[in-house]
Amino acid sequence: LASRKEINDEYYNVWCIFTKVTSNSPLRRKFKIFTASMLKLTSVNLAFHVISDPASREIAEPLIRGVIATSGKSMKVTYYDVHVLAKQLEDIVSTMSPYFSSNPGTYYSDALFFLSLGLHRIAPENQKKAAMFDADTKFRTDIKELFEEFSKFGPEALFGLAPELTPVYRHVLYLYRSKNPGTLFGEPAYLGGFPGFNSGMVLFNFEKLRESLEYDNILSMDSVDHMTQKYYFKGHLGDQDFYTILGMERPELIHKVDCGWNRQLCTWWGEHGYSDVFANYSHCDARVKLWHGNCNTAIPDD
Ligand code: UDP
Ligand code: MN
Repeated sequence: LASRKEINDEYYNVWCIFTKVTSNSPLRRKFKIFTASMLKLTSVNLAFHVISDPASREIAEPLIRGVIATSGKSMKVTYYDVHVLAKQLEDIVSTMSPYFSSNPGTYYSDALFFLSLGLHRIAPENQKKAAMFDADTKFRTDIKELFEEFSKFGPEALFGLAPELTPVYRHVLYLYRSKNPGTLFGEPAYLGGFPGFNSGMVLFNFEKLRESLEYDNILSMDSVDHMTQKYYFKGHLGDQDFYTILGMERPELIHKVDCGWNRQLCTWWGEHGYSDVFANYSHCDARVKLWHGNCNTAIPDD
């Protein structure tokens, strides 16, 4: 007889945040596209973990049931109350908000913003690995292929992330870059630089995260204070600001996933002072495996 642990290993864990949704909000349609594309293309069994508030859950449940029925496949679905999780992650949120939030102090919006940094504490013990996606994404390939990235993780890697495809961190790192001419931080990946990470797709090695004393140290107020001062860093993009700083300070902790697994479509920075360099940042030669319609950008139909 297979143990319960072995049975859980057969599921690929997928997390998504779905909150503050009403029956006519655009996020509802986006979430349906995300869920349907994932299920349509998967060749593996999925356990889908949806973080929601009570009213949004009312919308998610029939929507997901419909997607499952249409696909002819099955999927295990679990819901988590965002208010409960916010409480569990208060310590992380209060450390991070002053450095990486544009208006710190708005109760559970902030918790959502930093939730991925403590997901290993929320996820049931039997989950060893997981992936998390923004609801404004769409799959073009089998999610199994993404989980194969875990076998490429270095011995110390805790997370897997794809690059940010805009000059936002060129902007944020302006002062550091002026004091450190020639630095690759804030330069486009396409030209060999480190443009930071985008958190629309995150891979988690929960097993390593849970046992890592070092990660707890890195999350501490002293450590965040030290790192943000070193890079003159004042962010506003939540968890991905933290991943970006970690990518500079401790690159071995984050496995770099190719840009095709988070092909961002937002062009805002190309129209706001960075038209000369924007194309170098958005450049992505990899096959597109996951579209990301960030800043409310439409996703192509194919
Ligand atoms: N989100 C949500 N409710 C909201 C806003 C955001 O559940 O009101 C979740 C959703 O999964 C979304 C993610 O948070 O994809 C990140 O927000 P968004 O994708 O809008 O940010 P962007 O990628 O445009 O920066
Ligand atoms: Mn997004």
